[in-house]
Amino acid sequence: MGELHVFFFPLMAQGHMIPTLDMAKLFASRGVKATIITTPANQPVFSKPADKYTQLGFQIQIRLLEFPAVEVGLPEDCQSVDKIPSVEARPRFFKACAMLQEPLEQILRETRPDCLVADMFFPWATNAAAKFDIPRLIFHGTSQLSLCAVHSLRIHKPFKNVSSDSELFTIPNLPHALKLTGSRVSPFERNEFESPMTEIMSRVRESEETSYGVIFNSFYELEPDYAEHYKNVLGRRAWSVGPLSLYNRDVEDKAERGKKSAIDEHECLEWLDSKNPHSVVYICFGSVANLAPSQLHEMAMGIEASGIDFVWVIRNKREEDNGSEKWMPKGFEERTKRKGLIIRGWAPQVLILDHEAAGAFVTHCGWNSILEAVCAGVPMVTWPLFAEQFVNEKLMTDILQTGIGVGSKEWKILDNDGVKKEAIAEAIKKVMISEESEEMRSRAKTMKDKAKKAIEEGGSSYLDFNSLLDELRAYRAKH
Ligand code: UDP
Repeated sequence: MGELHVFFFPLMAQGHMIPTLDMAKLFASRGVKATIITTPANQPVFSKPADKYTQLGFQIQIRLLEFPAVEVGLPEDCQSVDKIPSVEARPRFFKACAMLQEPLEQILRETRPDCLVADMFFPWATNAAAKFDIPRLIFHGTSQLSLCAVHSLRIHKPFKNVSSDSELFTIPNLPHALKLTGSRVSPFERNEFESPMTEIMSRVRESEETSYGVIFNSFYELEPDYAEHYKNVLGRRAWSVGPLSLYNRDVEDKAERGKKSAIDEHECLEWLDSKNPHSVVYICFGSVANLAPSQLHEMAMGIEASGIDFVWVIRNKREEDNGSEKWMPKGFEERTKRKGLIIRGWAPQVLILDHEAAGAFVTHCGWNSILEAVCAGVPMVTWPLFAEQFVNEKLMTDILQTGIGVGSKEWKILDNDGVKKEAIAEAIKKVMISEESEEMRSRAKTMKDKAKKAIEEGGSSYLDFNSLLDELRAYRAKH
């Protein structure tokens, strides 16, 4: 029998494509033939690393499916989540994704891989794979904690038992007494009436029950109670094989993830080299978030007031701002020239976090960002905005205590606002230079060591991955 062949089909969003590519690298490095499916506009995310891996003797191929953006009334270049022109246009994007079922079935029919790892947002992939008796694994791209919490919120609706959206409640039946407010819960979980997005989300849940299992970019030691809860209480089959970012070992791999950086990586490293260990705060809100201009203004003031050296990634694509940065406080860049490095566009995030000068990470709590900071042993200032970020925050602040919240209170996809400069400066200083800093840093360092061990031979993720491969081989032998 030849080697296994696994298909990977990530949602077209950096936060999903980047870890899926890393996952394909993991599979390929263990002798599995990996094929990544994507659309033409997203090919550049994968092509260079896939070529590099192939040259090293591993097998990573790319298959392209045309994306029917125009058919659903979206601009032709709208082939990824960050290109969706408005919140209202989101359901159309997912409709276009669902239209990929047929072309996907065609390549499944032709190629007959041994497994399909498809994104959670593609619930129809389970049926497509079932037609050819191919096990479909779901990749959520998030924490097990967040799936457990969302499950509890959906069943118990604790936000209904409080008198206002700002009153705290405890998320019921979880291993820890984690508190949220209604304003921090996604409207998709709170809405009683159906919207196109709630319908999509309910299909996503159904497919969880009918799929072969779930693969996580996580590791057991990071969220052991939720790994158990997910398997034993929610009753799902799951494998944790991360942290996947650790499969990027050299500077080039770390620097070019997702997109080409807006800054030369050597220039960036040189700047960091000129700073003391743990003296720089890195500020970046992932690939999708867009803060309101007024919030960016407060951010600049807060950073300056903290007095801490910084790397700040600014990527505001809002039309009305038009790249003019009118929100920037007068003279800010001049005044902070020696203290700060501003990156406009895409930053080499893993390279920055892994540098010894990195002392804290102001993050929106996207799961990849959290994992990358965990792997670097960098404590966080948590500033969740939307998706499952408010729950991920709890892991860092309440459970692992390697993060301090800035006080973000409202779930919102666009135009996030409301965090004042004083709160920003205070949170940065608390993580960087307060009495608590040393302890937080030492806890973060312990978790970093556990992350590294997890993927080494004999580690928890290594063993979980082995058992997944064994199951897939056994499945193939039986069918
Ligand atoms: N990222 C990056 N440079 C940037 C912004 C983001 O390399 O300037 C990467 C980051 O390292 C992470 C991913 O993009 O791997 C973002 O995923 P995350 O889950 O943190 O947030 P999302 O973009 O999905 O909100």
